[in-house]
Amino acid sequence: MSHPPAALLAGAVLAGAVLAGAVLAGAVLAGAVLAGAPGQASPAAATSALPLAGRVVAIDPGHQLGNSRFPAQVDRRVWVGLWKPCNSTGTATNGGFPEATFTWWVSRRLAVRLEALGATVRMTRTTNSRDDWGPCVDARGRFGAEVGADLEVSVHGDGAAAGTHGFFVIRPGARPGYTDDIAGRSSVLAGHVRAGLLGVGFGASTAYGGDGLDTRRDLGTLTMADVPTVMVELGNMRNAGDARCMTSASCRDRYARGLADGVLAYLSR
Ligand SMILES: [Zn+2]
Repeated sequence: MSHPPAALLAGAVLAGAVLAGAVLAGAVLAGAVLAGAPGQASPAAATSALPLAGRVVAIDPGHQLGNSRFPAQVDRRVWVGLWKPCNSTGTATNGGFPEATFTWWVSRRLAVRLEALGATVRMTRTTNSRDDWGPCVDARGRFGAEVGADLEVSVHGDGAAAGTHGFFVIRPGARPGYTDDIAGRSSVLAGHVRAGLLGVGFGASTAYGGDGLDTRRDLGTLTMADVPTVMVELGNMRNAGDARCMTSASCRDRYARGLADGVLAYLSR
């Protein structure tokens, strides 16, 4: 025998508990971010105080685990102001931990953190699978504008000479007809993302000028963007110290925290 009224009541109580949890999370977040004391605020006010409410952030986890199994598709040339391969396999640690998996897990952690701040997050790929490839760099670049994002962050790990270590943030150089409209804002975003990563304890790369910033005019993911965008190379997977960090879940979450801090600072300015 069923008891619909009791079931409904239980549902309402459960919903209330979930709502209370969300409001509590909102109040805690609002307090942390705004250093305010929202104890007197109504639940609605606490919820709307989430600092990234109404914002959309596009995250591009670099590469795809199956890219090496689909050479014809991945090597196909796409036009990004010049002809470039659709995508590439990415690098790996000497121990075989693939860049595609690193970027995937950092991006997932970043999404969780941004959603907790109230943002809507959209990802250029939604799997990390040996059965999948792509998307191509032109599609990754166009993605942010297509989903109405305020900005796009492309997540990568570098595969450089073993002695170099640290992160760097790549911003698009101005290309007339492509990035001339977003280069300035992307540079501002790059500064905030660099500050975010430095702020959680990561060191800027010892290469690429040593300031943790680089500018490129030949990367399709950046060139095809129509919203402010950066590509982060979070560490050198061929460096033993960076590789130790990049294969650790807690360290990947710290990368995500630094990136989220940078995105929040940029969108709060
Ligand atoms: Zn990469």
